[in-house]
Amino acid sequence: MFDLHLHLDGSLAEEDFLYLAKKDNIPLGKDFPSNIYVPADCPSLVEYLTRFDLPLLLLQSKENIEYAFSSLVKRLAKMNYIYVEIRFAPLLHLQKGLSQKEVVVAALKGVEEGMKDNDIIANIILCTMRHADEKTNMETIEVAHLFKGTRIVAVDLAGAETLHPSSYYSNIFAKAREYGLNITIHAGEATGSDEIMMALDNGAMRIGHGVHLSLDKDSIAKVKEKDICFEFCPTSNLQTKSLKEYKDVPLKGFMKAGIPVTINSDNMTVSNTTSVLEMKQMIKTFNLSKEEVKEILFNSIKYSFATKGEKEKIAKSFESRFNDYYSLLIN
Ligand SMILES: [Zn+2]
Repeated sequence: MFDLHLHLDGSLAEEDFLYLAKKDNIPLGKDFPSNIYVPADCPSLVEYLTRFDLPLLLLQSKENIEYAFSSLVKRLAKMNYIYVEIRFAPLLHLQKGLSQKEVVVAALKGVEEGMKDNDIIANIILCTMRHADEKTNMETIEVAHLFKGTRIVAVDLAGAETLHPSSYYSNIFAKAREYGLNITIHAGEATGSDEIMMALDNGAMRIGHGVHLSLDKDSIAKVKEKDICFEFCPTSNLQTKSLKEYKDVPLKGFMKAGIPVTINSDNMTVSNTTSVLEMKQMIKTFNLSKEEVKEILFNSIKYSFATKGEKEKIAKSFESRFNDYYSLLIN
């Protein structure tokens, strides 16, 4: 399986919390573990985002960041995942004096450790944040540039979408384009189609969520001309009130328009899901055929930020595992 939209801090396992909290003597709160999952009556994206406070408190040392990446990659490998892109914002891990570069070195070490002896490829996307100042976000772009060609494969813009529009971040993405970095941007989750268009103007090659893309002729033409792939995360959208029900996920509309879509988890712990469960839900909701399932899964290879050689390897592995995946998904 695949996951192209997976946040590290929203995907620590319960045992990771326990291990890290005990090690550093940090209280997990009397509500643990229910305080690491989003409540069923979560009112908004802003409320959803508070679920990241506790994991971030634990991830402020090189050792812990390395551990968290390694643990997540190992967990995904055990779940039979072939390829994943894990994203995180280095600027959220500086509370105890680390530099963004040190944070990223720890992340890379963790990913390599997780991949060791496992049949999985994991890459990392560095998030800039909507609430951060330009100087700090620019540093993330510089670090992504410094580590280009390693498992750091792209940059993203995350955080509360209603804070500032994507156009506000044009300087940092101009720099990212100058460096030839791959770009994905969270857009059209809590806002509408205009935000997605601004993200495309900033050079986004993929859109995180994007479920509010207006499927009019001009928007479809622009998205198709740039061959943009969308990273849907259905349960997360229901929890943040971006969408009301699973049947509101515009999967069929996008597919009909010929716009590539992938299905992802967003946050395995906060949303209490996996991309496998999300895909199962989509198959059930939209009665997807075997061919449609294969097409959606294949998009996660085609539009991944893996190297050409990696993509070939992943595609080969996918071909041999697809029938097993499919029976898992429909049962
Ligand atoms: Zn996200």
